[in-house]
Amino acid sequence: MSSKFFIDNDDAVLRDAGLRVTKQRLAIMRVLFEAEDHPDAEQVLARARERDASVSQATTYRTLAVLAEKGVLQTHTFDGGMTRFEVSNRPHHDHLIDMDTGDVMEFVSDEIERLQRKIAAEHGYEIVAHRLELYCRKAG
Ligand SMILES: [Zn+2]
Repeated sequence: MSSKFFIDNDDAVLRDAGLRVTKQRLAIMRVLFEAEDHPDAEQVLARARERDASVSQATTYRTLAVLAEKGVLQTHTFDGGMTRFEVSNRPHHDHLIDMDTGDVMEFVSDEIERLQRKIAAEHGYEIVAHRLELYCRKAG
């Protein structure tokens, strides 16, 4: 899954969120838009520092908090662990979490989507949003 349509737009995303555009923040943005593994704040910081050694922990945490508040980022606290981040404007998907490794995999099932709509409709509702998280161990 890709968020490529966002990739040349980092400056605008930062400005829209009310953040000053700095090379440190741009490094953080690159990390977020390229991540496919739902990194936590420390992982974002480490990766941003690989791009720009001057990225600080304070800048990283503040940038993540503001982007999450503005809806640019979605936060997840899978199994009550560290808050993890992913960009919001990706196609809908659900998550499968490996409880032993903490790995997060993404999946989409038309059948599950359809069943959820059916269940909501049976109760007289339309679904506005949903999150589905499967907590798993390798079988066998
Ligand atoms: Zn995801």
